[in-house]
Amino acid sequence: MQKQTTGIHHITAIVGNPQENVDFYAGVLGLRMVKKTVNFDDPGTYHLYFGDDAGSPGSIITFFPWPNAYQGRLGSGQVGITSYVVPEKTLGFWEERLTKFKITFEKHTRFGEEYLELHDPHGLNVELVARKAGKNSRWSFGGVPTDKAIKGFGGAVLLSASPEKTMKTLEEVMGLKKMAEEGDLVRFQSTSDIGNMIDVKKIALPRGQMGVGTVHHIAWRANDSDDHKEWREHVSRFGFGVTPFKDRQYFDAIYFREDGGILFEIATDPPGFAYDESYETMGSKLMLPSWLEEKRESIETTLLPAIPRVLEEDK
Ligand code: ZN
Repeated sequence: MQKQTTGIHHITAIVGNPQENVDFYAGVLGLRMVKKTVNFDDPGTYHLYFGDDAGSPGSIITFFPWPNAYQGRLGSGQVGITSYVVPEKTLGFWEERLTKFKITFEKHTRFGEEYLELHDPHGLNVELVARKAGKNSRWSFGGVPTDKAIKGFGGAVLLSASPEKTMKTLEEVMGLKKMAEEGDLVRFQSTSDIGNMIDVKKIALPRGQMGVGTVHHIAWRANDSDDHKEWREHVSRFGFGVTPFKDRQYFDAIYFREDGGILFEIATDPPGFAYDESYETMGSKLMLPSWLEEKRESIETTLLPAIPRVLEEDK
């Protein structure tokens, strides 16, 4: 049985102060906060989700804001760069916008495409790349119109402790196709039109350390729960220790660590973020799973603010 993921489902990272996180991803990048909930294992802290208007698979970045945690260190065993895709011919708009908010960026070219590389307030590497592929987001916020808005992930750069093995896993287990090589990078592609370009660094860096400003894991897409069951068997057959199925409210998840040290998750596209709120109101209220609802009052008093707001320029 050969299986192919359509691409990235979501990426999850550790950051610091939650309002700074919201101000950057909603206020500057113009993403929609599609869900505000808590870390089910540590309900005094948030789990925040941002994406396109619907929180479509392939557009979702999720954060654990831990304001008092140590800064992590970028290195192998991690996602090194998270790339976002914007509509064609809009990089000029984004350059102006970043300049207005005094966010420094660098331009570079990779596989013939121009990228703007920047850092979020907690040190995560983020890139913007313009492509025709992918449907426009219907979310407009804080001066980002829908025809300029981020459509979803362009892809990611993976830093592996064992690049050859990671590349083999991407091809043989995840079903990605090797497309090109350039310098110390190899590019793989999946079948979706977003979240589909995965670049692997061929040289292993010193091992990274998890903490603020690092990606915790990358999740790949499964179509539905039947497909998810097949994925679990498929991954096990390659000898990976894969977790039992976990209910994450908005998707089901399984996890395994690939040989290069990167934590991989496979997550189902359904049910999605309109599962416990309407499309119109998603993200506006703190959502709690039923078993935490009785503790809502104490949870709400513990949590720091995390509210999407329109930012003043060059704040
Ligand atoms: Zn996840």
